[in-house]
Order: sequence, then structure tokens, then C-alpha cells
Amino acid sequence: MQSEKPEKPEKPDKLANPDRFSRQASYQEGLPENSLVGTASSGSISLRRVHCLLCPHNCIINVGRSGVCKTRVNKNGVLYTMAYGNPCSISVDPMEKKPLFHFFPGSGIFSLSTAGCNFRCLNCQNWSISQKAPSDLQYYDMKPQEVVAEALRHKSSNKELHITSSIAFTYTEPTVFFEYMYDIAREAHKQGVKTVMISNGYINRQPLLDLVPYLDAANIDLKCFDDAIYHKLTGGSLQPVLDTLKTLKERGVWLEITNLIIPSLTDDPDMIKAMCEWLAENGFADTPLHFSRFFPTFKLTQLLPTSPECLINSKEIAERAGLKYVYIGNLPYLRGENTHCPKCGKTLVEREGYRVTEMKIETHIDKNFDADAAINDSTGLCGFCGEKIAGVWG
Ligand code: SF4
Repeated sequence: MQSEKPEKPEKPDKLANPDRFSRQASYQEGLPENSLVGTASSGSISLRRVHCLLCPHNCIINVGRSGVCKTRVNKNGVLYTMAYGNPCSISVDPMEKKPLFHFFPGSGIFSLSTAGCNFRCLNCQNWSISQKAPSDLQYYDMKPQEVVAEALRHKSSNKELHITSSIAFTYTEPTVFFEYMYDIAREAHKQGVKTVMISNGYINRQPLLDLVPYLDAANIDLKCFDDAIYHKLTGGSLQPVLDTLKTLKERGVWLEITNLIIPSLTDDPDMIKAMCEWLAENGFADTPLHFSRFFPTFKLTQLLPTSPECLINSKEIAERAGLKYVYIGNLPYLRGENTHCPKCGKTLVEREGYRVTEMKIETHIDKNFDADAAINDSTGLCGFCGEKIAGVWG
């Protein structure tokens, strides 16, 4: 289906009342130094530092300061999120744009984000919202219940495929608006709406475990397979992202992975081989891997776009390692976004841009359709040879 523009509510004036969107943050602890040091009369300073436990940065934040993500502020010794109910971007996107290719293909998904991110990617395409604090931008005023109501209003209806409602936490990094995402996801599940997280995977295990019961699918950016490059490119590190992949997989969240190939940074064939072998050896052979073409942007405008040869070579490396569903994105003429049966090789899903034009996967659409069961079973069969095709096909 075509992407449909939601009727957006009015954005209130910038900085109208930012505290209205403030909530006490989850996953924090006061530090032992929290007690007052000295007295007001002696001129000593109260440290009242807090430790944020939400993501692997594990920021220690002084009074009046925010963490790396710019959404969490220490107010007098207690950590608050400033990203709750104030999305700066909302839209209805094609599911293929996330990208999610094995999860209700061809449907539309209500998508939103607040400002802020816990990464500092040199190649960020959304830097104008991700590298800002929520109070720096105009925002919509949308409580979790209103987000779910909007998603239901924009229910995707594609007679050839399925009917569903879904919400994506995307554009910036949803971990940094965790409480908002969590409350939306809980409300969504109460009303039968699917939820999707498009994330850098940089989140601590406990918050992720708390979220996954209300999460249906995720696409995680695996930026590269080298910790030093990870740090240089994003400010984060590799191992926590690998841990997130494992947790999502073990908890039954439908998972796809994106790897952007950036010339001179993440295009080393040996590194790509090591990444793909790790994925195959750790139970991700059925997990779609999206190699994505880089275009010069933000702080990497001096680089060239990824060459088609590099992308094709990377796909071959991944398939040799045993990965069954490998895609090439951002290079339309290659037709690298079609889904093929790993057994008979026939084309099962044809895509033109973000549109699904043909689908040859047998699903539960006609009788007794139960999306929850589909998620558990990952059911879908090749329309030619009957091979089981991993995914949530609707
Ligand atoms: S969520 Fe933000 S404040 Fe908390 S540890 Fe991560 S970057 Fe720091």
C-alpha cells in the first residue's frame, strides 16, 4: 500500500511547557555520594549524582545535567525523562521502509519518535532530531492512548495481503524514550495493535526484558563487527548490541538486522565474513540481514557511496556463511530486495521500492487467522515447494 499521511495534530509552541512531558525515569540509582557533602553555610556542594541504568553508557549525571542521550535530566538527585508524550516526528510508513521484509509485508505502520539518541553516528540521516534535546524541537502532544488510537485509525488494509494495525518506534533511538515506548506498547497490545522497535540495540538487558512482552518485531542496526570502529562511528560498543540480538531472538521477538556498508569504515570483507559467521553460529541463519548502501551524509560527506560490487560481494559472503535471507537495500536496479525461497530459489515476494507487487507465500489469511499464533509459529510456506519461510506473514 502507499504510505499515507496522518492528520497531524498542531505542534505547540517550542518550549511551551517542557516539564509537562517530564516523568521520573525508570532504571536509575542514586550513588553513595548522594548524601550532602558539608552544609550550605560552609559553601560545600551537594553531589546528588545519579546513575542511569537504561543503556550501556551507564551515565553518571550531576544535578542539572543530562546524559549522553539528552533526554534524561538529573533534577535535584532524581533522574527524569524529558521525552514522554512529545513526539517530534510522526508518519505512516510502508513496513518495507523500516526495513522489515518478513513482518506483515506491504502493510503501513504508524511511526513516531521523540528527539534524542544515545549514539553519535557520523553518518546519521536524522541528526537534526536525533542530536537534539526534546526541548530544542517542536513536538506533538500525544499521550500513549492517543498514539494507539491514531494507529487504529490508520489501520492498513490490503486485500491481497492482510489487515493490521501497528506502531513503529523509529527515526531516532527509541531506547531514549523508553518509558513512552513502554506505555504505548502496553496499551497497543491491550487493543491488538502490533509494535515494532527500530533500534541501534544499545540498551541494557533488564529494560529490554521488561519491554519484550509488548514487542512484536525489531530491526536492529548492527553497524559493524569491530569494537574500535563501532566506537569511532557511533560512540558506542559492539558487545551490548550482540547481547540485544540474542535476547530478542531468545524471547521470540521477530528480528531483522541492518548492516550499512560504509566505504573505508565498515566495508572490510574479512570483518563482514566474521560478522556473518557469528550470526550463523549463534542461531541467526533464518534472520533477514539487510545490507544497505551508504550515501554521503552528515559528517561523512567526503566519502563515496558504497559500490554495487561491494554490496554484491557482501551478500555472497553472507550466503556462503549460511544466512538464508540476505537483502541489498538502497540500490533499486539490483532487485536485491526480493525474497527468494532458500530451498527452490523461486521469487516469493517481489518489491518495487517500498511496494510489494507479488507475494507467493502461503499464509493463514483465509481461515482462523491468528496473528499471535503466527508470531509464535513464524508460519509461512513457499508457494512453489512448501519450504517453511521464517517470518510473520499475516
Ligand atoms: S539512556 Fe541516556 S542517560 Fe541513560 S545511560 Fe543511556 S545515554 Fe546515558
